[in-house]
Amino acid sequence: MALRGTNQEFGRPYNRRIVLEAIRLHGPLTRADIARRVGLTPQTVANIVREIELQGFILSRREAPKGRGLPASALALNPDGGFAIGIHVTPRGLEAALVNLAGIIVARARRDLPRIDPDTAFREIGTIVPALAAHRPNGRMLGVGLAMPGPFDVESISFVGPTTLEGWKGVPVRQALATVTGLPSFLEVDLAAAAHGEQLYGAGRAFREFYYVYFGVGLGGTMVHDGAGLRGAWGNAGEIGHMTAVPGGDPCPCGNRGCLERYVSLEACERRSAVLGEDGWHAEAAPLFRTALLTIENLFDPETVVVGGLAPRRLVERLVAAASPLANSVAARRDRPAPRVTFSALGQDAVLLGAAALAVSGVLSPRFGMLFAEGPRPASRDPILEATEAHPA
Ligand SMILES: [Zn+2]
Repeated sequence: MALRGTNQEFGRPYNRRIVLEAIRLHGPLTRADIARRVGLTPQTVANIVREIELQGFILSRREAPKGRGLPASALALNPDGGFAIGIHVTPRGLEAALVNLAGIIVARARRDLPRIDPDTAFREIGTIVPALAAHRPNGRMLGVGLAMPGPFDVESISFVGPTTLEGWKGVPVRQALATVTGLPSFLEVDLAAAAHGEQLYGAGRAFREFYYVYFGVGLGGTMVHDGAGLRGAWGNAGEIGHMTAVPGGDPCPCGNRGCLERYVSLEACERRSAVLGEDGWHAEAAPLFRTALLTIENLFDPETVVVGGLAPRRLVERLVAAASPLANSVAARRDRPAPRVTFSALGQDAVLLGAAALAVSGVLSPRFGMLFAEGPRPASRDPILEATEAHPA
């Protein structure tokens, strides 16, 4: 579903975001392509394009001539037109990356800090962010996005147990992030941030409807539908790790028994391999993972299930191989263009790229607006203009 522009005069900032978003998601595009996509007149599009090109967000280049006449110039995002910082906090420490508009990681930082507490985390973030930003001293810094394990604000599951950040309950994360960085700040559950990264820059680019499995310390996933993650009423959709896999099985910190991530997750792999050996863990986990894949397919009918997260590629490949062949589900059809299960193209970087993209989307995209922003910026202003005034290209 493409967003449409408005021909009302007050809609100019909105239209600028619509046009930039079209180029960001679908570029390179000609002015005529854009006008068709967003439903604005060619003249309005031409005006906006001139403006955002001057601001340094986009570049135009002439395509090689195919027939007679001058070819139209195609507009693409200027990779260095803006930067954002993505941060991932896990039970094992934190990672951060400076990312450009094209989704290229320019610089990265990592701190191994098991069971990291909020004070330590924000102290570290306060030094990491300026150090990363210093790699592009003249760059336009759009914001910072932080991803962390969820779910958020669920009494029984949040911040309880080894797959979560214990001791983070009640911490105003977004506000603390804005305070220590001074930048527009965004927050998302790590599995959703990773799905967003994969959708923009990775395996998800080839699909409109895909399910992203986040194989991390815990296990989660997100259905990406029509270009956006399905987040549910409270933003917690996708905690598949707490689906019951073994009725009456291992107690889970959530209070239930036999939850999937007690058997299928990095945390489970380490804990169970110590008892069963690695082969034994694969034998135990594979049938449970197979059932989970079938459930996902039957629920969402995705074009494919992309498996990614923090787990090493060889580990998930081996697990998927052991879970194959998959039994029947709505996905078992002869005319499939894509395999039922594919692997992340970004691996462990998906979450950092997704967290950074959250900040880019938050500032530039008409979809996100400033809904999730917390920071020093007044909400009534036009964020594209403002990013431009703060850091002229
Ligand atoms: Zn559970």
